[in-house]
Amino acid sequence: MNDGSSGEFAVERRSPEETFALLGDDTRIGILRALGETPDDARSFSDLRERVGTEDSGRFNYHLRKLVGSFVRKTDDGYELTYAGRQIVGAMYAGTYTANASVDAIAVPGECPLCDGPLEAAYAEETATLSCRECEEWFNEFSFPPGSLDQFDADELPLAFDRWMSHVVDGVLDGFCHICAGRTTGLLVLDDDDRPFATYPAHVEFTCGRCGGSVRTAPVTPAFMHPGTRGFLFEHGFDVSELPSWAVWSAIDLPEVAVVSRDPPRVEVTVTAGDERLVATVDADASVSDVHRVGQ
Ligand SMILES: [Zn+2]
Ligand SMILES: [Zn+2]
Repeated sequence: MNDGSSGEFAVERRSPEETFALLGDDTRIGILRALGETPDDARSFSDLRERVGTEDSGRFNYHLRKLVGSFVRKTDDGYELTYAGRQIVGAMYAGTYTANASVDAIAVPGECPLCDGPLEAAYAEETATLSCRECEEWFNEFSFPPGSLDQFDADELPLAFDRWMSHVVDGVLDGFCHICAGRTTGLLVLDDDDRPFATYPAHVEFTCGRCGGSVRTAPVTPAFMHPGTRGFLFEHGFDVSELPSWAVWSAIDLPEVAVVSRDPPRVEVTVTAGDERLVATVDADASVSDVHRVGQ
């Protein structure tokens, strides 16, 4: 918030109607694509016009000028994408607005951490799922950009989905919405009856204050993302930045979650690896306030 107490900053907002209307033209999309090919280098007017392939210099200039100030910036070296311009080009690559894809269920090597059943990965309607074919308890569902699919062979997709899920959760735990970059707020919710995650007595939710986007996961997730836990697992031979999450979960005892306070809600997550245990405390705002190891 800019309350004037420490360092002034100004944010100028334009209407989305006006800004997105600028994109309804092939030449302008061509300009953004051409600048997106070398996002770190500015391009001269003539170079850019040649790349886009517009003969009429006056017409090209008209369209380029429409984009300057929103998606394109003019510098001493030429034209380059603004942050918003990069986001538009990124969205075109990710296929968020343009691609439609589905992937039939793929068998995932490994087994369900909860019931040892077979796992599968699938993709439809821009949503990836990683789930167990036998129990309904191991079930992960999340958005995955369709334009990213064809960068992977089918047998690479389960790990790609898992990495993406971890990447999204990591960003959300750091306080940024994965959809709009708004600020997220975490909440630890105690579940007395309906237990959505692996019969744990609580779950965590992160909600964006701007777009309402949210992520729900087990309280084990913030505990696992904590550097103390990652180090603990690494020392026991599990590099969580390399191994798929189901492989780590299968290799260790299922983490335990105990409610230690109801008001405010607080849980302790116990992770056991080898002959050592680690206890992480998850607070009411879904942050991890303490991580310590306990002797057997
Ligand atoms: Zn299962
Ligand atoms: Zn948001």
